[in-house]
Amino acid sequence: MCQKKEFWIYAALTRENIVEKSVWGLISKVREILSPHKGWSICCLLAGDKVNDAAESLAPFVDRVYALSDSSLKEENHMRYSIAMVPLIKREKPEVILFGVSVFNSILAAALGMHLKTGVIAHSIDININSEGNIVGAIPAFGGSFIGDIMCPDARPQIIGVRAVGVFPEELPHRGEIVYASCETAKASDDYSFICETLSARSNGKSIENADFIICGGHGVGSLENWELLEEVAGMLGAEIASTRPPVDEGWVKGEERMIGISGKYVAPKVYIGVGVSGTSHHLCGMRDSKVVININSDDNALSMHNSDYIVKCDARDILLALRSVIVE
Ligand SMILES: Cc1cc2nc3c(=O)[nH]c(=O)nc-3n(C[C@H](O)[C@H](O)[C@H](O)COP(=O)(O)OP(=O)(O)OC[C@H]3O[C@@H](n4cnc5c(N)ncnc54)[C@H](O)[C@@H]3O)c2cc1C
Repeated sequence: MCQKKEFWIYAALTRENIVEKSVWGLISKVREILSPHKGWSICCLLAGDKVNDAAESLAPFVDRVYALSDSSLKEENHMRYSIAMVPLIKREKPEVILFGVSVFNSILAAALGMHLKTGVIAHSIDININSEGNIVGAIPAFGGSFIGDIMCPDARPQIIGVRAVGVFPEELPHRGEIVYASCETAKASDDYSFICETLSARSNGKSIENADFIICGGHGVGSLENWELLEEVAGMLGAEIASTRPPVDEGWVKGEERMIGISGKYVAPKVYIGVGVSGTSHHLCGMRDSKVVININSDDNALSMHNSDYIVKCDARDILLALRSVIVE
């Protein structure tokens, strides 16, 4: 397949059809990695119902916006979206399609990989591009003890997911073209069964992505009884509770909604307190934008302790009991 040197960024939209904040960071990041390479166009791919305003808002920042606008795309649905996107992708032949990290984007990227018979580089914490035009995704391996480079050299387009890492981009000297593509095939996908509604998240508490104060429990919390104590203290301090992977696996926390990290949420609170968290890269990449980081751990050599502004070396249960009694007094 002869590909065009187009680097597409999937521009996810909010429920109000506004371009998600993370997309702007992705545009900056892609400009940065492409700056030493010649001949690339940066494009955005949009899908939804009535996406004209979103397309207009992106046009000053990229070379081209491909917009799939149809009422059948009103609800975010990975099967409908992927079926709508495939003919456009096959016609335009982009080299790369980049997705920011979110649950929906991960499923959509995987569905596109399946339809287009290409590879998907998932969960990258950073991206780069080599002189052959292969995207290189940095993926933590073996609990984060090293970072592996993953590429998809033989199949096209290259599909990759990465967390948003850039700042808001500056406008280009030229305004990008907007290409409205027809998506009749999205309706054909009605032969499939669909999830009709995605409930956003939580039965209680705020979402952790927007929280200013997070207390994150790790495996070092030790037991369900201690976890309940952690939740009680977090509630007393007005913090949102979050977790690493093991408390989810242990069943102390239900679901992954509050899990921070590469396969969970990315957070940027003013204050993050980790309790019994070792600090693997899978977790650290999700909280590294926190302003003040405090870690409580019985091992002062834990990686988390070396990635902190303040550390407390002590037993998790001891400090939680002490905090509760001080607050109650
Ligand atoms: C592909 C992939 C994706 C992953 N995605 C994620 C992700 O999104 N988020 C995530 O968190 N993990 C993720 N993981 C798992 C990750 O690699 C680690 O296993 C996990 O983050 C470790 O969690 P932890 O720090 O709570 O537990 P541990 O690594 O077991 O660390 C426990 C810590 O508690 C301390 N401790 C022990 N007892 C006490 C005590 N009594 N008091 C105080 N401290 C104590 C220990 O010293 C240790 O530092 C992923 C793994 C893979 C392979």
